Amino acid sequence: MSHFCVQCGTLLVPRIVEGREVEACLNDDFVLWHDPKVTTAVVIEVDGGVLLGRRAIEPGRGLWCLPGGFVNDDEDPWDAAARECLEEVCAAVEQARLIGVYHIAKQGAPSMIGIAYQARLAAGSRPSAGTEMLEVKVFAPDSLPPLAFPSHRKVLTEYLDATSRAQPEAAAPRIAFARAPHEARPSPRPAPSRPGRKQ
Ligand SMILES: [Zn+2]
Repeated sequence: MSHFCVQCGTLLVPRIVEGREVEACLNDDFVLWHDPKVTTAVVIEVDGGVLLGRRAIEPGRGLWCLPGGFVNDDEDPWDAAARECLEEVCAAVEQARLIGVYHIAKQGAPSMIGIAYQARLAAGSRPSAGTEMLEVKVFAPDSLPPLAFPSHRKVLTEYLDATSRAQPEAAAPRIAFARAPHEARPSPRPAPSRPGRKQ
């Protein structure tokens, strides 16, 4: 696809800049950098479970997800995360901690930097489905539903790992995800290698 300079309107041409092939302008210093988009996901803890929303929109319509979404240019990532919780699952939340920061590779679209937070409901907050959700529900860690996004599965896995490390006496929650119908099954683990036996 052709791109044009935002400064002078000239057709951009391929050029190597800092070791990467990019599209750049021959007339001035404009370079079309492919920067990732920044997005957030929030694990809202409710009574030992996590609050998920079932999506009313594509991508992943009908599947479950963590509340979250893109960070606007003028927003602190946590403010964006809290705003999305209000919009998507009508939940006022308070930040508990940062779970992690992830690169989410995409093809045919900008990749994403995902920032995952753990949060708790603000006093008196009663979650319900926002316009982008069909329903909201609290799931126990051992019965998580099919998720719309692999990155959310990663976030939940790390959240549950950290939770079980923080409570070593408690039985570690068994992490069990139902599989989304469209997802490819992971390749089976290779069988543990047996000692070679000469024949
Ligand atoms: Zn130009």
